[in-house]
Amino acid sequence: MNPFIIEASILVRDDMLFGPVDFLAACHLSSTHWIYSTNAVKTAMPILTILEFPDTRLRTIAKPVAAVDERIRQLVDDMFETMYAAPGIGLAATQVNVHERVIVIDVSDDKSEPLVFINPELEPLTDELEEMQEGCLSVPGFYENVVRPERVRVKALDRNGEPFDRVLEGLLAVCIQHECDHLNGKLFVDYLSNLKRDRIRKKLEKIHRAQANG
Ligand SMILES: [Zn+2]
Repeated sequence: MNPFIIEASILVRDDMLFGPVDFLAACHLSSTHWIYSTNAVKTAMPILTILEFPDTRLRTIAKPVAAVDERIRQLVDDMFETMYAAPGIGLAATQVNVHERVIVIDVSDDKSEPLVFINPELEPLTDELEEMQEGCLSVPGFYENVVRPERVRVKALDRNGEPFDRVLEGLLAVCIQHECDHLNGKLFVDYLSNLKRDRIRKKLEKIHRAQANG
């Protein structure tokens, strides 16, 4: 069998583990090496625990990433795996108890558009507001409408530490604002009334107590 085909078929089975960047790099390897790499990556990439509201660690303000190095790239890979497995379309490092300014997003249906934002800076580009129903992996099971600017510019570093600048609209605009809030210790439930937020808090605390009691 053509090694490339073997690689491709493995990629299909393990698509949760690799973004397009890793796939391109892997294509240069022999099939044997690729199989070995796949196994190595599997054991080296644990799914991270996602903190849940009202955990006070979610209120931590994340620090800028000082250098985009292998440690940060490993964090990015682990965050993608965790986000896809959840499943979710965005994850901030704060949610996995790492208080550095790293966000991963993929709003595609087939996990084909992974986006990495390191040290993101947001600028609203319009006064127009959009209301969209939001959920959050740190507030599981609850969905509420939140109003945000519908178009934003984001400046950030990519997974190689290269700066980029992008205008985001629609779902991506909502998602990047939601995730940047996480890096500032803010949750979407903060946009709700005290009454609604307290109700969600009490329900989640009850669930957490039940989980703790086995
Ligand atoms: Zn969230």
